[in-house]
Amino acid sequence: MTQKLSFGIAGVAGRMGRQLVSTALEAGHQVAGGTELPDSPDRETDIAVLAGRADPIGVMPCTDPVDAAADAQVWLDFTAPQATLAALHALRHTPVSAVVIGTTGFTAHQEAQIAAAGSEFAIVKAGNFSLGINLLTAMTRLVAARLGEDWDIEISETHHRHKVDAPSGTALMLGDAAAEGRGGKLEQLRSAPYDGASAEREPGKIGFAVRRAGGVVGDHDVSFASEQEVLTLGHRALDRAVFAQGALKAAEWAMTQPPGLYDMEDVLSLKDISV
Ligand code: NAD
Repeated sequence: MTQKLSFGIAGVAGRMGRQLVSTALEAGHQVAGGTELPDSPDRETDIAVLAGRADPIGVMPCTDPVDAAADAQVWLDFTAPQATLAALHALRHTPVSAVVIGTTGFTAHQEAQIAAAGSEFAIVKAGNFSLGINLLTAMTRLVAARLGEDWDIEISETHHRHKVDAPSGTALMLGDAAAEGRGGKLEQLRSAPYDGASAEREPGKIGFAVRRAGGVVGDHDVSFASEQEVLTLGHRALDRAVFAQGALKAAEWAMTQPPGLYDMEDVLSLKDISV
């Protein structure tokens, strides 16, 4: 039987927040508290009811992560970069020892702040918590390592119309893996968007294409194209529950680890997959 944990969950009225509450309760874990913005219309609603469950659990959203995590072992955060960083700071004053971060859209400076917090918490941070996408990431690294620069790498993604950051955290994760396979860093290998009169593709660069449409949960493709053939690896998320289930798996794993910054490939032991 898996270990039963006590969670503090950020942004409990959000799409992922509701899903995390629902999946955690479904799995028999405890949700000790949750946060929302002060002006959220959902502040007066029990977080289990917000998550679509029939029975309330007597926990209302609060605004302070210290209150929400007062009885929590693990913090789950799928909100927005500033909110996640503020919570990481506040969690020092709570019993929380493990943090799962699904928020995307951090700047390089914010990423460095999260890495620093890895000295205090076991943090699992991933642009995507699904098994399929993490396998796709490992395969992307492997294929990129096998194919030379005459194969153009293009990553495309589609998400729902409410998504704020672009390209998606998952697309960037796939880009990092492709760059790593090529022995470089995405910062150097990322192509500028193709737009305008002089938008030619530079050899060896990794390109991104973004679409925002309706209610799409998340589609990602990685194409490797030579003059003669195209190899495309793709993934489609059908339900947000897949991210929440992955986040819970990450939480259980993080509880067994020393402080540090980890990703989902660590959780799933996919780092060993090599050419
Ligand atoms: P959303 O807008 O539906 O939910 C975010 C919630 O956070 C909102 O309810 C908002 O009010 C709340 N929030 C914002 N600031 C807050 C604060 N300071 N304190 C408390 N609550 C606060 O967005 P979403 O679709 O649930 O996505 C949230 C994040 O998770 C995004 O960055 C998205 O890209 C990411 N995401 C990651 C994965 C993954 O597998 N890593 C999967 C899906 C979404």
